[in-house]
Amino acid sequence: MKFRATCIILLSIFVITAHAQRRRRRTSTNDTITSNYEPAELFSPMFYKDKGTEFHSASGAPGPKYWQNRVDYSLDAAIDTVSKTLTCTEKITYTNNSPDALPFLWLQLDQNTYKPDARSNFATGFSPSPNQHTNGYEIAAVMINRGDVMQHVDFVVSDTRMQIRLPKPIIPNGGGITLIIKYKYVIPGNFGGRNDFFDTKNGKVYEIAQWFPRMCVYDDSHGWDTLPFLGPGEFYLEYGDIDYKVTLPSDMIIGGSGELLNPAEVLTAKQIARLNEARNSDKTIMIRNADEVTQASSRPKTGGTLTWHFRMNNTRDVAFGASRAYIWDAARVNLPGGKKSLAMSVYPVESEGNEAWGRATEYLKKSMEYFSEKWFVYPYPVAVNEAGIAGGMEYPGIVFDGYTDKGGELYWVTAHEIGHNWFPMIVGSNERRYAFMDEGFNTFIDIYAADAFNHGEFAPKRDGEYAPDKGNPADEIVPTIADPNAPIIITAADAVPEKYRHPIEYYKPAFGLVLLREQILGTDRFDYAFRNYIRNWAYKHPQPEDFFRSMDNGGGEDLSWFWNGWFYHNWSLELALIDAKYVNNDPKQGIQVTVANKEQMAMPFAVEVKLKDGTKKRMNLPVETWLQNKAITFVIPTTTEAESVTVDPDAALPDMNRKNNTMAVK
Ligand SMILES: [Zn+2]
Repeated sequence: MKFRATCIILLSIFVITAHAQRRRRRTSTNDTITSNYEPAELFSPMFYKDKGTEFHSASGAPGPKYWQNRVDYSLDAAIDTVSKTLTCTEKITYTNNSPDALPFLWLQLDQNTYKPDARSNFATGFSPSPNQHTNGYEIAAVMINRGDVMQHVDFVVSDTRMQIRLPKPIIPNGGGITLIIKYKYVIPGNFGGRNDFFDTKNGKVYEIAQWFPRMCVYDDSHGWDTLPFLGPGEFYLEYGDIDYKVTLPSDMIIGGSGELLNPAEVLTAKQIARLNEARNSDKTIMIRNADEVTQASSRPKTGGTLTWHFRMNNTRDVAFGASRAYIWDAARVNLPGGKKSLAMSVYPVESEGNEAWGRATEYLKKSMEYFSEKWFVYPYPVAVNEAGIAGGMEYPGIVFDGYTDKGGELYWVTAHEIGHNWFPMIVGSNERRYAFMDEGFNTFIDIYAADAFNHGEFAPKRDGEYAPDKGNPADEIVPTIADPNAPIIITAADAVPEKYRHPIEYYKPAFGLVLLREQILGTDRFDYAFRNYIRNWAYKHPQPEDFFRSMDNGGGEDLSWFWNGWFYHNWSLELALIDAKYVNNDPKQGIQVTVANKEQMAMPFAVEVKLKDGTKKRMNLPVETWLQNKAITFVIPTTTEAESVTVDPDAALPDMNRKNNTMAVK
C-alpha cells in the first residue's frame, strides 16, 4: 500500500512538473537576450562553509556551549609631561573559560607600532619619516602571582605582540591567572595619530589610547588571534572591568572612558555642582568655561600632581584625553526605560563656539539617544567627545574628534565615532580581520541617525564615508563595484588599499544593509533581525557567518545570494527594459513588459507605469524572478493608455546603466 501510494504521488509530481516546465518554455522567448548573468553562480545552495555548532548555532545566535575568556585590568599610570613618558603598573586578571588548557598567553603591544622596525612601517605604503618613531613599550617586568609570591616569567616580544610562557598551563573551563606588567613608553608626538600630543593656546593636549598591554582574544575561530597591529585593521579584545588611575600635573583635566570615582579629589566644588546640574539637564551645562581655563581657581590645587581614578565595567578597552587647556561641558542622555547617561565634551578655546565644539555635547547626546532607542541601550555611565588631532577615532566611552571640525562635519564624525560603541564595542566583532562589521555596520546606523538628528539638520549623511560626491548612493557606488581592482568586502582589513578603504569598508557594506532593509526585507523584518543579532552578540564575538545567518533566520529568507554577490564578490547589477507594449495592441488588456538581467548580480525590483491620465501604477517583482531567468516577460494589468514604463523608478538599486530603464509603451 505504502509503495503504491508513493508511486502515484511521485507520478503526479512528475506530471505536474513536466506540465509546468512545458508551459514555461512555451511562453519564454527571452533566451536570445545576451547576458552575463548565471543564476547557478549567484544562488549557490552551498553558500555556508560550515554547519552550525554548539558554539555558533546555525541560526546565527551563540550556541549553548558558546564560551569566551574574560580579562579584568587594573592600571596605575603616571604621565611625566617633561619627558613625555607614560609609566604604568598593570595587573591583568585572566579567566580561561575555553575548553583548552593554555600553556602560553599572547598580548597586544600596540605602542610597538611606532618602532623604527615595526611591520606597520612597511605594510601600508606610507612609511613614516625617521623622526616619527618611538622605542615602543619598554617592559621592565612580567610577573605572575602565585599565592603570595610574585614570580618573574619569560616573555617574548614579536612586533606588536608579546607571548608569555607559563610555568604551567592555565586549566580550562574557568581556570585563571594574575599577571603584573611594569612598563613605560614615550608618548608619540603629533605623528602618533591616536597616541599623541599637540600644542594649543593654553597648553598641550594629550590623546592617550592603546596604552596598556591588552590580552589577545582566544576563540574557537583561530585560537589565539595574534594578527599584528598595522593600523588599518583595528581591535579585537576581550571583555571585563577596567579600573585605572592616572597621575599627572594638578593643572590638567582628564576626559576618560568610564566613571570618575574620585571627583572630590580632582575637581572643584563648583565643578562637582555643575556636573550634578548637567546630570539633570538636556541643555549643555558648562563645567569649566573658556574664561576659567586660565584661572588657577578652576583646579582644586596648585602645583604638584593629582591622581584621577576611573572605572569602566564590561568593556574591552579604555582611553583618555588630558590637558590643562580643556573647556568642559556636559548634558544628560535620556535612555529607554528611564535610564540615564552623561554626554561630555572637552576641547581647547580654539574649538569654542556654536559653529564648532559648542554643540559637540548636543551631537554626542542626540546620537547616543538615537542609537539607544533604535538598536541597543548605551550601557555606560558617561561618554566623552574629546577634541584633538586624531581626527576621528573611537574607544569605549570616548571619541577623539578633530578640534578644528565644525558644523555638519563635527556632527557626522561625532555620530560616527560614538556609533562605534555599538559596532564593534558592544557587538564585539573582530575588526582586525573584518572591517565591514566595524565601519560598514556603523556607517549604516549613522545614515538613519543623521536623518533623525534635529529634523534632518545635517541630513542626508553624505561625507567621505558614504556617497562622497553627495549624490544618490545607489549611483555613486556603481563605479566601485565595476572597478576591476576594487577588493571585495570580505578582504583582510589590512589588505584593503587606502584608496578603497572608505568605498569598500564603509560605503559598500553600509549601502548593502540599506538595500537589505529597504529593498529586500523591508524595514520591519530587517530591524527585528538586526536587533536580535545585536542583542545575541552584545559583549560577545560574532564571526561574519553569525551575522549572515542571523539575518537569514530573523528575516526568514535565504539571503545567501545577496551575501555572495555583494559581500564575497563585486558583482554588478544591470537591469534593462527590453520591451513594453500593449497586449494584443489593446490598452484595455494591459502592458506586456520584458526586463533582462544582464550582469552577475540580481535584485528584487519595481516597475512603474505612467498612465496618460497622470496616475502611476507599480508592480514589485521578487528576487525569485531571477532564479531561472535571465529575462522575464510579464503583464502589468492596466486598462487605459500609458505613456511609459520604468524599471527601478526610485533609482534605489545600484543599476549600472539607468539609460535603458525607461521606455514609451508601444
Ligand atoms: Zn569608523
